Amino acid sequence: MTQYHPLSEREAIDFARTIPDLFAAGAELSCREIGDGNLNLVFHISDPASGASIILKQALPYAKVVGESWPLSLDRARIESEALQIEGSLCPDLVPRVYKYVPELALTVMEDLSDHIIMRKGLIERRTYPEFAGHIGRFLARTLFFTSDLGMNQQEKKERTKQFVNPDLCKITEDLIFDHPYTNADTNSFDEAIRDEAEALWSDTALHLEVARLRHGFLTKAQALLHGDLHTGSIFVTESSTKVIDPEFAYYGPMGFDIGAVLANLLLNFAGQEGWSPDANSRAAYRDYLLRTAKDVWTTFEAEFRALWNAHNVDRISGTRGFQDVYVEQLLQDTIGYAGCKMVRRVVGLAHVADIDTIPDAGAKERAQRLALAIGKSLIMRNRQATSIDELIDIAEKAI
Ligand code: ADP
Ligand code: MG
Ligand code: MG
Ligand code: MG
Repeated sequence: MTQYHPLSEREAIDFARTIPDLFAAGAELSCREIGDGNLNLVFHISDPASGASIILKQALPYAKVVGESWPLSLDRARIESEALQIEGSLCPDLVPRVYKYVPELALTVMEDLSDHIIMRKGLIERRTYPEFAGHIGRFLARTLFFTSDLGMNQQEKKERTKQFVNPDLCKITEDLIFDHPYTNADTNSFDEAIRDEAEALWSDTALHLEVARLRHGFLTKAQALLHGDLHTGSIFVTESSTKVIDPEFAYYGPMGFDIGAVLANLLLNFAGQEGWSPDANSRAAYRDYLLRTAKDVWTTFEAEFRALWNAHNVDRISGTRGFQDVYVEQLLQDTIGYAGCKMVRRVVGLAHVADIDTIPDAGAKERAQRLALAIGKSLIMRNRQATSIDELIDIAEKAI
């Protein structure tokens, strides 16, 4: 069992029995593999008699993409479990508890969150999450501040960056988000109906200049430990609880990349609402909810980040009057730019989002795709000029 191989359901059950104080000896355990099987296996193991349950997540050594195998380091399982533990130390209520990490098997044992639902699914069902913006704003502020040069000793931070060198997963981001959508790449995938839009992206050199700048930031700005894949499919929610999962893309990068991911995914759902809302009034109401949430995410983040900065005694030179404002404005600009990049790739790149892709009506789907691209491109073009989150809201409202 100790040499790496993908576990069978039977082996997953046998492994789960070795976890102390969880299942009664001799309990009849059931196991379901609930991941999508492209990158990782996710086993849900439970004892129907006692109600006890656990999740085992195991990394696979490859990803299945465009019919080929793309090798991926198993080290990302270590990175995921260590990132979850750091996030858990900073925001214990906002991530699953990690019980154990088994390096030989690239396996993480963690809390079962099956009483939550994946936020993307909840948004497609047009549910509202009144606590979400506060929770994720706090998650972003605390995880980003306390892993940066502001919130930790600068020499320890340099050591910390070594723990999160994640070249394989960064390469996926560098290619699929910052490169392929802007050229005629094999990995791209889009409906023929919007070929005009895709081709326009390939030749838009003003847009390419902004994307090149943002990509350069992603490559070089080791600002804080990022989650790295903070879309609404990596967030579990209920009305009163938020849990962030799946930080296998974690690395030291620009803070705005994580904040932008959250905002982009709210805006992708916004773009898809013609396909989900039964009538114009309910569509307008839900879109209004999404935009309010996007603004609240930023304003909560900003308020908590500034409060941490003020309370935490940053080093003398960082404490210079005016520097905090400069820093936060740069964060806003990065956030807006990365949000735009994240929207564009979800329409023409390899991996799409269900908020748009599963819209049953072809016309509504095409309009959603065009809307998402229009918003995404405007955000990218605005990034360096932005001075207020209201500009992001305004771009979305004017696009419909
Ligand atoms: P991947 O990296 O392969 O996307 P995820 O960590 O996102 O893997 O997990 C895939 C799916 O498995 C999630 O969408 C969710 O349905 C389920 N899952 C993952 N972690 C948990 C958990 N802690 N509790 C319950 N379900 C989980
Ligand atoms: Mg998946
Ligand atoms: Mg995932
Ligand atoms: Mg993942």
